[in-house]
Amino acid sequence: MKLAVLKERRNGETRVAATPETVKKYIGMGLDIAVEQGAGLASGITDAAYAEAGATLAASAAEALAGAGIVLKVRAPTDEEFAAIGKGALLIGTLAADAEAAGRYAGAGIEACSMELLPRITRAQSMDVLSSQANLAGYRAVIEGAGAYDKGFPMMMTAAGTVPAANAFIMGAGVAGLQAIATARRLGGRVSATDVRPAAKEEIKSLGASFVGYEDEESKAAQTAGGYAKQLSAEFYAKQAEVVAAHIAKQDVVVCTALVQGRKAPTLVTAAMVASMKPGSVIVDIAADAGGNCALTQPGEMVVTENGVKILGFTNWPGRLPAAASALYARNLLTFLSTFWDKEAKAPKLPEEDEIVKGVTLTRGGAVVHPLMKPAA
Ligand code: NAD
Repeated sequence: MKLAVLKERRNGETRVAATPETVKKYIGMGLDIAVEQGAGLASGITDAAYAEAGATLAASAAEALAGAGIVLKVRAPTDEEFAAIGKGALLIGTLAADAEAAGRYAGAGIEACSMELLPRITRAQSMDVLSSQANLAGYRAVIEGAGAYDKGFPMMMTAAGTVPAANAFIMGAGVAGLQAIATARRLGGRVSATDVRPAAKEEIKSLGASFVGYEDEESKAAQTAGGYAKQLSAEFYAKQAEVVAAHIAKQDVVVCTALVQGRKAPTLVTAAMVASMKPGSVIVDIAADAGGNCALTQPGEMVVTENGVKILGFTNWPGRLPAAASALYARNLLTFLSTFWDKEAKAPKLPEEDEIVKGVTLTRGGAVVHPLMKPAA
């Protein structure tokens, strides 16, 4: 069976869905690999490295896709790529953002799996693209925040005087936020963090940061069965904002990572809070892909406010460390495929009843099967 790896074309995507390391493993599973020329360049992987790993290089996406039974992507295929994917092919990527596309995949007989819908269960951890990518995003956010901050992060006692440690405040302590806490601590910042899920408080403290937040009966039940934060009441958010407002004025670098699954990111930093911050402070909003946690975030941009606060609203944060992000994403996909692999038939075997398979499958046998993707009746 042929497996195709395409060059990503959407929104300046820098990542790639397979690396020479995973190509070798796929070949060991009995697959023929076609990699579109230039697919890895933005991640620092040359065509020669793929060829050395045993892949055949294809001059175009259409050439790579011709006769392919499996297609690996980071982002959803473009219209042109979509048109060249054969009926019955298994398409694996992060596809769920475009719910309407699921109908088109089904119509074309494509079996589509969207990896960001993976259930957050122990068995799925090594396939978890959200975690592997969020971890890198959390790290990079602090690094870019430190770069944009015009003082130092650690306390520096020098003969010319002392530079105080930066106060860093991490909003949202999921996978990205915990890595941001750890990174800001490693840089020598004085770190505090907030979250609404009760379990997060202990995790924040265990990383050596202080917890700042509002807790009540509602927040005791703020976590869904899947481990995500729930959408909470306007009253709760108002109380939380009071606590945050008092704290944020003293912060130098604020890293926003808060998300509520399937919704726009909650607004946690208002324009008034930004106005209360010192000139030279930095807000890094990695929730920008979901609209941002800061009311003044411009997704994809850096803005400087009138009072001199820099707001970094870049999108696709994992794509800012493309080599590491591609390596981990590619391994996540390899683990998924090798877990659901029929060694005799040398082909994927995706049991419908399996919790992981059920979680990620958008389309099967020409129909949209994922509850989140079915058009409203
Ligand atoms: P996420 O990206 O959906 O959200 C980021 C964080 O924002 C979360 O911690 C959330 O609680 C927080 N948040 C939401 N609203 C907020 C608000 N108003 N104020 C402050 N913070 C707010 O989360 P994630 O990083 O994907 O993690 C989600 C859950 O999944 C966590 O419980 C995590 O431990 C769990 N998880 C489990 C596995 C696994 O077992 N396989 C893997 C990864 C993550």
